[in-house]
Amino acid sequence: MRIAVIGTGYVGLVSGACFSEFGVSVVCVDTDATKIARLRNGEMPIWEPGLEALVTANVAAGRLSFTTELKSAIAGADAVFIAVGTPSRRGDGHADLSYVFAAAEEIGRALAENRMKNPRAYTVVVTKSTVPVGTGRKVASILGRVCPQSQFDVASNPEFLREGSAIEDFMRPDRVVIGADSEAARTVMRQLYRPLYLIETPMLFTDIETAELIKYSANAFLAAKITFINEIADLCEAVGADVQDVAKGIGLDGRIGRKFLHAGPGFGGSCFPKDCRALVRTASEAEAPLTIVETVLQVNEARKRRMAEKIIAACGGTLAGKKIAILGLTFKPNTDDMRDAPSLVILPRLIAAGATLRAFDPAGIEEARKLLPDIVYCEDAYETMEGADALVLVTEWNEFRALDLARVRQLLATPLVIDLRNIYRPAEMAEAGLSYISIGRPSPSAPKSGARAELRVLA
Ligand code: NAD
Repeated sequence: MRIAVIGTGYVGLVSGACFSEFGVSVVCVDTDATKIARLRNGEMPIWEPGLEALVTANVAAGRLSFTTELKSAIAGADAVFIAVGTPSRRGDGHADLSYVFAAAEEIGRALAENRMKNPRAYTVVVTKSTVPVGTGRKVASILGRVCPQSQFDVASNPEFLREGSAIEDFMRPDRVVIGADSEAARTVMRQLYRPLYLIETPMLFTDIETAELIKYSANAFLAAKITFINEIADLCEAVGADVQDVAKGIGLDGRIGRKFLHAGPGFGGSCFPKDCRALVRTASEAEAPLTIVETVLQVNEARKRRMAEKIIAACGGTLAGKKIAILGLTFKPNTDDMRDAPSLVILPRLIAAGATLRAFDPAGIEEARKLLPDIVYCEDAYETMEGADALVLVTEWNEFRALDLARVRQLLATPLVIDLRNIYRPAEMAEAGLSYISIGRPSPSAPKSGARAELRVLA
């Protein structure tokens, strides 16, 4: 089978590479000529574990190629995947669909031209981008206008991969969702995902609107789960309970599950914030408001700001003239993606409060420099700490999980660690002579509050 993938970003590149690994012949298209040139040179434009090896192997096998020429890429394709960005539209939070619609127009023109050569060609145009309910129909109407004579169907195949484990997620997903109205489109999609049938991946076939809504509902639900445990963490701090144990205690309930119950500085990234905003807009336009999701967004925004206040308070209420070491800038580990990262809200507030920041991130510095120019970027974790008045752990990269605490103690001018990801045990920090503040956990040196004592009596 042959496919074209339009948009060679985190989703398009990973999907294209994985489909080629399934044995499909794939052409990845992007308007960004620099990105395509780098890919043709064997350079990855994004940081994603395992991607380079997968791309290199499939390019060498002749199944994967890159181009800026959409028309030639589409010729003879059984399916064309639209995997362009759908960022938040400025002002109203709606998904900006201009890239999707521009791609649809271009696909339509290419299908019309290709039809001259092969009048019987049939193509499924698939939206893989996360798009609001009704977008698939709009794509179909654009195609109907631009290439009325061509034989095509539109399908929705939302992507659930996570940056950092994108290849594994694509190759072994929890499920594949396919929204399509015609049996012909379903047949093409079934063939493309055949290797996943063989490993018994659940395939959910729905109509297009339902598939579109499944993606947003999944992201909003996960964002709500994170926000819930973050608020419980605040309550834990107020009453002297331990949020890690609360998360374990509730997560062991099969109805709740343990994932996405890690308290932290608030969710970020290229999907949850923008998808929640877009879902809220869709719901309000449909006069079926999603108050829960609206609240999740408000609580999450406030949380990121409060993390800055927490750091300032931990440093004695003022950062004037202080040097703060920052570990981790990306919204999560194993990616270079800085989109909507909590660091983008937290760090400027620390700078505004008078701090000098020295930061290190294993993959995000190149992107971070563009967004956070007023930071001293360091070569490694320990360099950030030299003479610092506090160390703040913002992103839980593996390499920050096993720091040499004696060295940390020696490098810091003030032995204070503020861990926004709870990656250390309070007791080991105390043993290393470090004051330790984390999220929703009592510090070993902190006096027990009356409320905590009372809870213990009740227990
Ligand atoms: P991205 O910004 O990394 O990549 C989008 C690419 O599309 C860019 O390289 C851009 O140059 C290209 N592009 C834009 N218009 C084009 C056109 N007309 N023709 C060809 N190329 C064009 O975006 P992403 O993170 O890969 O996300 C893509 C979609 O997938 C979004 O809707 C997003 O919500 C969704 N999604 C993202 C993730 C994720 O983890 N990043 C996960 C699931 C779903």
